[in-house]
Amino acid sequence: MTDRLNSRMRASVFHGDRRITIETQDMPPVGEGEVLVRVLRTALCGSDFKLWHKGAEFTAGHEIFGVVEQPGHHRHGQRCAIYIPVHCGDCDACRAGDTQMCLQVSSLIGWNRPGGYAEYVPVP
Ligand SMILES: [Zn+2]
Ligand SMILES: [Zn+2]
Repeated sequence: MTDRLNSRMRASVFHGDRRITIETQDMPPVGEGEVLVRVLRTALCGSDFKLWHKGAEFTAGHEIFGVVEQPGHHRHGQRCAIYIPVHCGDCDACRAGDTQMCLQVSSLIGWNRPGGYAEYVPVP
């Protein structure tokens, strides 16, 4: 699998008007504190219906299950389900358990950053 890292991957592109194509793209960038997950399954969500009609700036898909594929990372090879809201874990909202209302980070995997209708997705 290592040879697939730093290369290209297949990902769905939601063009709008109910048109989706599978295209080859560069691997998404993996930010600091993030790992690359090889997607095994991404469930279709009702909210993706909107993107099917309107199109999506980023790869859609936010009900994701996969395997961490980040050689050298302590979670490498571990299966995981992805939690959609990216959050800081440190603000008042996060400490109260309301990570979906994080005061520092407003980002949703599959909405305003790459999601799971692709072979790989970067996640915190
Ligand atoms: Zn959903
Ligand atoms: Zn927070």
